[in-house]
Amino acid sequence: MIAALLRKNRMNKSNYNSDSFLSTLFFSVLLFSTNAISVSTENFKLSNDIVPLSQIVELKLNPELDGYSGTTTIEINITKATQNIKLYSKNLLISSAIIKNKNNKNKTTLLTVGSTSQYDIISLPTKNTLPKGIYQLSLSFDGKYSDTGNGLFKVTEKNNNYLFTQFQAMLARSVFPSFDQPNFKIPFQLKVNVPKGYLVVSNTPQIQLISHNDWHTFVFEPTAPIYTDVLAFSVGKFDSVDIPEMKIPSKLYVVKGKLPQTTYAIKHIGKIFKEVESFFTIEYPYKKLDMVAVPNYSNAAMEHVGLIYFKEDFILLDDTPSIRQQKYSLKLIAHEIAHMWFGNLVTMQWWNDLWLNESFAEWLAHKVVIQIFPELSAELDLPQIRSLSDDNVNNQLPVRRTVKSKADVDSLGGLVYGKGNAILNMVEHYVGEDIFRQAVISYVLEYRNKNASLQDFVKHIEITSKKDLEGFFSSFLEQAGFPLLSLQRNNDKLLISQSPFKTNNQVLTQRIEQKNHNKNKKPQDMSWQVPLMIKFLTDDNIITRSVFLNKESIELTIPKGVKAIFPDANAVGYYRYILPDEDEKFIKNNITRLNDAEKLAWLNNNEHLTKIAKRAYADVLSVKLALLSDLSLNKKIATDIIRDIDYSYTDFIPEAISEEYSRYITRHLSVIFKTVKWNSSKKETIADKALKASLLALAGGRLADKGAIKFAKANYQDVLSEQSSLDSSMSNAVLKVVAANSNEDVYQLFELAYLRTTNSNLKSDILTSMGYFTSLDIVTRYYNFLVSGKVPTDEIGYRFQYPSFNPALRHHVIDYIAVNKDKILKHINQKQWFPYNFYTSCEEDIRIKVNQTFSTWIKDIPGLKEKLNTVDETIKQCIRSRTKNISQLQEQLLK
Ligand SMILES: [Zn+2]
Repeated sequence: MIAALLRKNRMNKSNYNSDSFLSTLFFSVLLFSTNAISVSTENFKLSNDIVPLSQIVELKLNPELDGYSGTTTIEINITKATQNIKLYSKNLLISSAIIKNKNNKNKTTLLTVGSTSQYDIISLPTKNTLPKGIYQLSLSFDGKYSDTGNGLFKVTEKNNNYLFTQFQAMLARSVFPSFDQPNFKIPFQLKVNVPKGYLVVSNTPQIQLISHNDWHTFVFEPTAPIYTDVLAFSVGKFDSVDIPEMKIPSKLYVVKGKLPQTTYAIKHIGKIFKEVESFFTIEYPYKKLDMVAVPNYSNAAMEHVGLIYFKEDFILLDDTPSIRQQKYSLKLIAHEIAHMWFGNLVTMQWWNDLWLNESFAEWLAHKVVIQIFPELSAELDLPQIRSLSDDNVNNQLPVRRTVKSKADVDSLGGLVYGKGNAILNMVEHYVGEDIFRQAVISYVLEYRNKNASLQDFVKHIEITSKKDLEGFFSSFLEQAGFPLLSLQRNNDKLLISQSPFKTNNQVLTQRIEQKNHNKNKKPQDMSWQVPLMIKFLTDDNIITRSVFLNKESIELTIPKGVKAIFPDANAVGYYRYILPDEDEKFIKNNITRLNDAEKLAWLNNNEHLTKIAKRAYADVLSVKLALLSDLSLNKKIATDIIRDIDYSYTDFIPEAISEEYSRYITRHLSVIFKTVKWNSSKKETIADKALKASLLALAGGRLADKGAIKFAKANYQDVLSEQSSLDSSMSNAVLKVVAANSNEDVYQLFELAYLRTTNSNLKSDILTSMGYFTSLDIVTRYYNFLVSGKVPTDEIGYRFQYPSFNPALRHHVIDYIAVNKDKILKHINQKQWFPYNFYTSCEEDIRIKVNQTFSTWIKDIPGLKEKLNTVDETIKQCIRSRTKNISQLQEQLLK
């Protein structure tokens, strides 16, 4: 769950409108003049003494080979006389470099190729000083295709070779020499030579096709000014389909043979596009918008200007996708389209503001899905729930922090999406939806075709809302963690005070960004500026009041007759709170007074408080079980509760009491299990199906329910052979339940079915459920299979977690990893995330073994140390929480 989602959720970037090549050049010059004030002494950045204005890249690509060659011409403005041209180049062989003054083209200066810095900056020194002026820099180079899904990478599907690009982050430099920084937004023109028979698509429309012998040259229109990350091209013998209801040319490209799987996507893309565009006052800023379904893609998606990439599984859905798959896919499409404005039209100044790209895209995508697909109840997917849980680990870093290298960008992780989205929800709720939209629109208008930073957005929101919000943004984005609000009553007074939420008393030295004004700040000084919307509940009324907590504590007067104070109206708060006991009790007994989102947020708050012993796990569990007996309960909430109980076996309940715990749960859910009909009926909604699937997984996977296991065993062969009529959520649960209750013979069938099917979603489900078999021998066999070369690189790393969800298998899992380190490292991508396979562990001996094992990996893998620390801290937190809660839970189980 955590690690897989963490990685699967990582999405990437994308684009805008070209008036003309000339005007875009003009923009770049303007851009330079504003950049000149920024600091130029940082050795991880290029200086502003040499500014790119436009770039032509010509490549000769034969997908049958392992490498390629290319030339590039970059128009640059030298603003300060220099003897050394610097730009980025990584793993490229540069064979020549010359520079000409634009006004004196006869005078050519040959450059030597000097050293490359640790930040991939290559030096091209000259003998004579180059005076100020506009120049053309031309380079010839050779490179290799990658097989890791990065840079320019090759994928082979059914004996056909394809080439795709992935430049985010800091990877364009590994494909051609470039000024590979987000603040250099310039027009690019691509000319791609490929053997006849191959098609090339890129960000802009093709303007020419030149034929010579066995080769074709695809010439594309120059792009609008864009940054390198969102430049892209794909080469292959693609199938394609027009996307209907689009106002601009738009096609979906797939690898040969996959057209039948495009039905779901093309039915919805047009609607989503229209809804996203209608939010802005600026029309879609580019000439076309194509999409590509990329097999075995290492990202979920990437917002290249005019050419969005999606991981195949996320855009090519089956005929009966689950509610989860639908929401994920639709939101991903909306997120990438939203990037055309957030990220592409307005681009972060530097990587430290990646959240500006990601959080806004995520925020708008969520809105759009809620708006046009009400049947999916996406309003109950609260972004803060997941982020608060990740953000409370003690060594977590701020969302906005120094970024120097690719490893720094890669380490930014899910909070850049989720926490940023939650922060935007909170401020939107505080200033009002219309005012917030006005601010966003005026910000996009001012910075279109340019770059922006946090301060630029704050300026707009402060002007439109007439509120001082700098402290709000800075306290939530430049500090890690979040506040714990304590509410105390004293007669008719309410005292609200804040302190950092922390699960132990350890000094939290890493939590504060290394900004100057924070340098001497100690963790105990941490405070936040928090907008709160409070609901005062009386017996028959609700009074709401908006409050801005900008100091340690504030005092309010409580209206007459108030029975309970609920400090998270509409469930947008990025904080935790402790209520007076009487208030908490009133809410518990009158839970229907809260709306559905508030119910979820309140439950989650209570669950979180168990980690610091401010609530008992046993109490929270009994509230959840009581809620489940209410038949009018929203299906999505019921599904979440069932899933939480299922997950508790992984990361909370000790093996020693798990049987007792199962009996207790079975007792409380017996009515539901007796009445549920596992076979589907026509009347079921998609939400009913999701609930039933979560029940099946819990009953058959954890509670040894005979009916559930029997149903799963009767159906799994149909699922494996694609004959089943069950929807994807049920098929998925069926496979997991069978795996948890079967032996080697059945495992063999799973493996064969995995190799046989070409359906990428089914493949993914089978591979995951193979991790749910419970015998040690099968776990070994599963891991050997993962690293056998039969599974694509990007599908391997996080799948090591599934056996380790089972506490009884954890020792075996860590032993396997320790012995097979070299074999594993050879086969996985994003190696720094590997320790996350133990994120859900909760035992001291496992924690020690995990540290021992991975400490030998640290020196080889940048960024792994930090990930290991997070995992270590998360396990410690779970152990502490378990210790605090276990005796009370045991008492409860006996009742
Ligand atoms: Zn994104």
